[in-house]
Amino acid sequence: MKRHTVLSTPTMHGEELAFVNEAFEKNWIAPLGFNCDKFEEEIVEVLKGDQPLYGLSLSAGTAALHLAVKLAGVKRGDVVLCSDMTFAATVNPIVYEGGVPVFIDSEYRTWNMDAAALEKAFEKYPQAKAVMLAHLYGTPAEMDAILAVCEKHNAVLIEDAAEALGASYKGQRCGTFGRYSVLSFNGNKIITTSGGGMLITKEKEARDKAFFWATQARENAYWYQHEEIGYNYRMSNVCAGIGRGQLLHLQEHVDRKTAIYNRYKEAFADLPVTMNPFTEDMVPNCWLSCMLINEEVGISPITVLEALKEKGIETRPIWKPMHMQPVFKDADFVSVADKAVNEDIFARGLCLPSDIKMTEDDLQYVIDAIRACL
Ligand SMILES: *Cc1c(COP(=O)(O)O)cnc(C)c1O
Repeated sequence: MKRHTVLSTPTMHGEELAFVNEAFEKNWIAPLGFNCDKFEEEIVEVLKGDQPLYGLSLSAGTAALHLAVKLAGVKRGDVVLCSDMTFAATVNPIVYEGGVPVFIDSEYRTWNMDAAALEKAFEKYPQAKAVMLAHLYGTPAEMDAILAVCEKHNAVLIEDAAEALGASYKGQRCGTFGRYSVLSFNGNKIITTSGGGMLITKEKEARDKAFFWATQARENAYWYQHEEIGYNYRMSNVCAGIGRGQLLHLQEHVDRKTAIYNRYKEAFADLPVTMNPFTEDMVPNCWLSCMLINEEVGISPITVLEALKEKGIETRPIWKPMHMQPVFKDADFVSVADKAVNEDIFARGLCLPSDIKMTEDDLQYVIDAIRACL
């Protein structure tokens, strides 16, 4: 019998198509339009507490990160202190601008950037102007400690909340902690526009500047007048329609993902594994459930991956740390641990099927297969 056991794929509901149809009916098939405007307003409505926020819908989370790096003023040779255990898209935009990423180790409480390692990095690189922080797998970083270090060293915080829409830390939504924050709506994320992203900021001028860059840096003139290099980074009005329909179901997706995480946690209570952790200060969105195999077991996650693959179950190792990537072999890495936390988590961790279309039968099938390995 065919099982539905994948990491994370899109889940559509129907409203998406209504917004897309409206775009067709009005012939707004363009990288601007009412769905883009409304999607920005609706996302901001979900994110905001009492602070004003501005959103800019873009073609990808990576495009939003690139504009955030530019807004932070990162120039050739500038050091940016950056999360180490994350997707390469967190880092690449720093390099697009000629910045120099320095990777920061994680802590074991949330698997995110360790504020103590960040402080150590600032002692080594006091000139660092910006910090690029990712919330891993939808679990918020320890924001009070991270923000305190950024403030102490007068550094701009760029928040990569690509995986963390719907999560919160002490009641505040991920995507609102950075001076510039970024969401992704790629197909595998908690909600999708097929591909897309959004820049979030409290500063209207920053949103306007990013809009200017994202629309080919056209100056105000009758002819095409250019005084800066621009980009074609805006989201399609068709894609934004998908996003508007998806956003109606964000909390439902978070609830279902959370139920999957809890089901694994309960089922593995007697096994020598732990789940990706979080603290009582936070509500994760449980985008991906991950397990960490206890050290004494001595089984590699690749062994488990291969056994599960035989049974048609998709798993993936934890993001390979950036300081271990050949492309960043010359970059510095700062840790306060004897053995790098990220190397340890990478050596023992595995991302599990977390797709919200899995049935209880599918989940039981995965759980049984994992139990058979351990
Ligand atoms: C998905 C992701 C991105 C990139 O977003 P795209 O929309 O795919 O460009 C960036 N950072 C992290 C941590 C991600 O998971």
